[in-house]
Amino acid sequence: EVDWFSLASILFLLMFAPLIVYYFIMSCDQYQCSLIDPLIDLLTGNKHLSDIWSKTPTLTYRAASIYTLWVVFQMLLYLFIPDFCHKFLPGYVGGVQEGAVTPAGVVNKYEINGLQAWIITHVLWFANAYYFHWFSPTIIFDNWIPLLWCANVLGYAVSTFAMIKSYFFPTSAEDCKFTGNFFYDYMMGIEFNPRIGKWFDFKLFFNGRPGIVAWTLINLSYAAKQQELYGQVTNSMILVNVLQGIYVLDFFWNEAWYLKTIDICHDHFGWYLGWGDCVWLPYLYTLQGLYLVYHPVQLCTANAIGILMLGLIGYYIFRMTNHQKDLFRRTNGNCKIWGKKPEYIECSYMSVDGTKYYSKLMTSGFWGWARHFNYTGDLMGSLAYCLTCGFEHILPYFYIVYMTILLTHRCIRDEHRCFSKYGKDWKRYTAAVPYRLIPGIF
Ligand code: NDP
Repeated sequence: EVDWFSLASILFLLMFAPLIVYYFIMSCDQYQCSLIDPLIDLLTGNKHLSDIWSKTPTLTYRAASIYTLWVVFQMLLYLFIPDFCHKFLPGYVGGVQEGAVTPAGVVNKYEINGLQAWIITHVLWFANAYYFHWFSPTIIFDNWIPLLWCANVLGYAVSTFAMIKSYFFPTSAEDCKFTGNFFYDYMMGIEFNPRIGKWFDFKLFFNGRPGIVAWTLINLSYAAKQQELYGQVTNSMILVNVLQGIYVLDFFWNEAWYLKTIDICHDHFGWYLGWGDCVWLPYLYTLQGLYLVYHPVQLCTANAIGILMLGLIGYYIFRMTNHQKDLFRRTNGNCKIWGKKPEYIECSYMSVDGTKYYSKLMTSGFWGWARHFNYTGDLMGSLAYCLTCGFEHILPYFYIVYMTILLTHRCIRDEHRCFSKYGKDWKRYTAAVPYRLIPGIF
């Protein structure tokens, strides 16, 4: 059942999310990243919507070619180059891996080769920048708005295709979820793990590539633009590149772990993931770098070190918390967390076919501090990215505001799901670990 609040939120997002992205990017392009000035211009009649729209770059043949080449290249890397990184990188888990059991009891196989795709793409990027000079490293920045139209075309195309596919040729019909509400189904998805053929998995492909591989390239393009415009790259831009680079690299290093996250294990594939991965993520997660092109902030050493420390500590908490759960689940509790045997609560649940499964919820390590301390680490890192931009404008702070809303909502959504799954066992768990994100506060 779709409650009115979910429906209202969905309609709001379907209508306004593309406009929000446009507004942010246009504000930088036409108003030096001020979010207030366009509003003042419009409200005072100084400008009309048509004036802003007429100054907006249109879709170009060049952008369409770049984008098509980009997506096709990522598809080729994804589909046709089996992972070789796991053969020589100690500790890295790549190659063919299994996902979690779906509600209908299906276990999908995935070719984990995202790290390899990321490395190949970045080696080519640097080879071009320093040796081949086929294109300028500022290419992404220079075509940013025309590329936005291409990303939207792909985002809408893939979400619409996923919806049609779920009606006519679903990959696993038992795992489809029809609520009967068109908007909800379009937004949140019907199919669980839509695929084409044996290996082209929509969720894994669209989330990781083109979206997350592009993230670091977009930041590099911004750094190149700073160099071109000001003859130097500021320390704030370097910080953004380094901290977000660590986050992206971590994602690919742990791509096999990603198969166990909510996106893959619980969310269905609709506009939320399809359009979100193509447009929202590459455009709004990179706002700090974009901002720094227009406002090159040079931080004093103390501030730069403080921000670096906040980012690194946040990353450490994020990674260690995720690692603790992963280790705990992989070894079925037969491991050491902070030098001791982990404490946990035994729980059980039923799949749709009535089979009973058993699971464990850890109550020690970071998971004993709060029920989602991994999100807390993520939020600390997000705040660090924003702080690199100083306090002159609010635009770069969009990310921390958005992440706070996203992760708080995700936390509540996940807990709702866990409660339906584990029932009274989940209640025992929340009694043992009473806080969600910040021990003693929330
Ligand atoms: P989690 O990794 O926290 O996974 C939640 C699931 O873990 C629950 O559904 C439950 O699944 C299981 N679980 C919950 N509590 C316990 C416990 N105590 N012991 C063992 N298992 C438990 O959530 P996500 O998948 O949302 O997040 C993964 C990471 O990705 C996070 O670090 C998050 O910050 C990050 N992220 C980043 C985003 C971004 O846009 N930058 C977006 C979303 C996430 P089960 O049914 O198996 O019991």
